[in-house]
Amino acid sequence: MNGYFITGTDTDVGKTLVTAALLRALLDRGESALAVKPVQTGCTETGTGLLVPDVEIYARLAAPLFPQGYPHACCRTFIPACSPHLAAKLAGETLDADALARAVRELAQDRDTVIVEGAGGAAVPLNQRQTMFDLMQRLDLPVIIVADNKLGAVNHALMTVEAVRNRGLRVAGVVMTNTTPATDEDVSLRRDNVETIARHGNISILADIPFLSGPDFDMELVRHAAQALNVLDANDRVPDTADAMRFDREHVWHPYTSATNPLPTARVRSARGVRIVLEDGRELIDGMASWWCAIHGYGHPELDAAARAQLGRMCHVMFGGLTHAPAIELCRTLCEMTPESLEHVFLADSGSVSVEAAIKMALQYMQADGQTKRTKLFTVRGGYHGDTCGAMSVCDPDNGMHHLFSGLLPQQIFAPRPDCAFHEPFDPASLDEAAHILEQNSEHVAAIIVEPIVQGAGGMRFYHPHYLKGLRELADKHGVLLILDEIATGFGRTGKLFACEWSNVEPDIMCVGKALSGGCMTLAATLATRRVAHTISADGGVFMHGPTFMGNPLACAVANASLGLLRTTDWKTRVNNIETWLNESLAPCRSLPGVADVRVLGAIGVVEMNEAVNVARLQEFFIEKGVWLRPFGRLIYMMPAYVMARNEIGQLAATVFEAIQTNRHR
Ligand SMILES: *Cc1c(COP(=O)(O)O)cnc(C)c1O
Repeated sequence: MNGYFITGTDTDVGKTLVTAALLRALLDRGESALAVKPVQTGCTETGTGLLVPDVEIYARLAAPLFPQGYPHACCRTFIPACSPHLAAKLAGETLDADALARAVRELAQDRDTVIVEGAGGAAVPLNQRQTMFDLMQRLDLPVIIVADNKLGAVNHALMTVEAVRNRGLRVAGVVMTNTTPATDEDVSLRRDNVETIARHGNISILADIPFLSGPDFDMELVRHAAQALNVLDANDRVPDTADAMRFDREHVWHPYTSATNPLPTARVRSARGVRIVLEDGRELIDGMASWWCAIHGYGHPELDAAARAQLGRMCHVMFGGLTHAPAIELCRTLCEMTPESLEHVFLADSGSVSVEAAIKMALQYMQADGQTKRTKLFTVRGGYHGDTCGAMSVCDPDNGMHHLFSGLLPQQIFAPRPDCAFHEPFDPASLDEAAHILEQNSEHVAAIIVEPIVQGAGGMRFYHPHYLKGLRELADKHGVLLILDEIATGFGRTGKLFACEWSNVEPDIMCVGKALSGGCMTLAATLATRRVAHTISADGGVFMHGPTFMGNPLACAVANASLGLLRTTDWKTRVNNIETWLNESLAPCRSLPGVADVRVLGAIGVVEMNEAVNVARLQEFFIEKGVWLRPFGRLIYMMPAYVMARNEIGQLAATVFEAIQTNRHR
C-alpha cells in the first residue's frame, strides 16, 4: 500500500482539509487515489443515513473526479463527538489497531495512493492499550504532520515529530496551516515558527498554507497541496530493494551459510507481537522467537519504553571502574531468580562469551585451589555451547565440526549423548558410561559442562531429569564443578523458570542469555557460587575477563524490563498451554512418512525427520504459507513467544504437516 498517514499536532488544525486537498491534487495528476478515515466520531444521523463529516469534505473537494459519488471511505463511525476510545465504549464496541489496518487496506485495494487521516493527534487512544500510534505503525506509511501556526505550534509540532520517529516511522514532512487570520504582530512570529520547526525538527515544510477565506477557498487549498506533493516527490527516494538484496547476497555473511552461494534470505521490515513483517508487506507468524529470545513477542511496549528511557540517559559507559543502576538492578534480579547458591554475576555480551567466562572461572577456581592438573572439561556428546573456541571445544565433536579446528581447540573429555528420554522411565544404567569416563579422567577434570534437560542446537533432545541429578552427584563425588548452560532453557522455556529445577539441582556456575533481554539486545551473564567467586579471588586473585561492552546499560535496562514482565505475567500457565497446544497440533505429523519422532517440552516443539531436510525449499514454502520457521539438519522445530495464541500454534503445526505431506522437505 502506497500513500501517507495524516496526523495533527492537535484536533482542529485543518487536518481534514489538508487530506482532502492532497487527495484532489493526486487525482488531478491522474492518480487513482483515495482518502480514508479509519475512525470517525461526531457523525450525525440524517433522514437518509449517517453523515460522516470528514468524508463529506473529501467528497466535496474530489467531486469532479468521482462522478458516481465518493465511496464510503470510513471504517468505523460513531455519533458522540469525542475521542475514538470513548465513543466506542459509549457504543458498547471496541476498536483494534490490527482490525482497523486490515479495513484500511481493504478500502485501499487497487489504488495507487491512499491518504489515511487519523483522528486528533497521534497519541489519541483507540482502546485501553492502543493509540493512533499503533494504527500508524501497522499501516507503516510515511507520516505528514499538520500543524496550526499559532503560539505553541513549535512545541506541539516538534513533540509530534519526535514521537512519530521514535515509533520507527518516517515523517514525510510538516504542513503548516493558519486557521486564524494573522494580526500584524503575528506575522513575524508565525514566520519564525515555520523556520524553527524545520530547523529543530530537521524536517521539510511541505506547505505553508495562509489563512484562507472566500469563494476560491477549496482551489487555493488544492494549489498548496499540489506544491506539497512536489516537495514530497523530490524528497521520496525510492529505496532500491533489489540492489540492497544483491549486496546482501554478495557481501553480507549470514550464519552458517556460504559467502558465495548462500541460502536465501527474506528481507524484514518490522516485527510486532508474534509476527514478522516482510519488506513486501507479507506477515509471517514467527515460530522461532528469533532463536529462543523474543519470549514476550516483538515490539513489546514496556521493553521499547525501557530502551528509549535508557537511551535518554546513556547507551553505554565502560564497566571498568564505573557502575550504574541498570546493571546493579539486573544482577540483583538474577541473584534472586536463579538458584539460591548463585551469588556472583559476571555480565557478558553474548551467550558464547558467557560460556567462555564460565570455563575460565572453572579453570581459575582449580588453579587458585592448588589443583593445577585440573584443566579439562567433561561433557556429553550432542551438546551446543556457542561458536567461540572454548565453547566450541565442548560442542558435539561431529556437529561442532571439531575436525575443522583440530589443533586450535583444546581436547576435552566426552561421554556419550544421554540416551534417557525425558518422558520415558529412567534407567540408571544410562549414567554408567559417563560415570566410568569421569572416574578414569577425574584428576584432569575441572568441571562438567552441560545444557540442563534440553540439548538445543545439538539436536533438540530432551533427557531425563535423573541424568542431570546423577551428573551433580558425580561432580560432587570427584570434586569437580558443575557448569549449567541455561542460555536456551532459562526463563521459562521448558516449563520451569530454569531447566535445572526439573532435577532439583543447583550448579556451581550457570550461564544465561538469549531470552534474558527479551530478544532486544545482545546480553548474557555467568553466575557463580560464593565458593567459586571467593576461591578465585583469594590472595588477591582476579577473574581475568572484561568485554568492552560488559554491562551495557541499554541491554541491562531492556533485560530489567523483560525480567520484570516475566515476574508479573503468568508465564508458567502460558508455557503449559503452549505445551498442550503443541502436543495436540503436532501429533498428526507422527503418522507421516519420513518422520522419525515428534516431541514437545514446555514451549518447544520438534519434528525430527529421518533425513536432513531441504532448508531453502522448506523456507520458501513456509513463507508462502505465512509462517516463519527455520529448520536445520533433520529438525523442523519451533519455540514460539510465550504470548502466542492457540490458533497461531495450530497454524504453525498445520503448515509443518502440509510441508512434510507434500514433500517440501526433500
Ligand atoms: C545459543 C546458545 C549459546 C551461544 O549463545 P550466543 O549468544 O549465540 O553466543 C550457548 N549455549 C546454548 C545452550 C545456546 O543455545
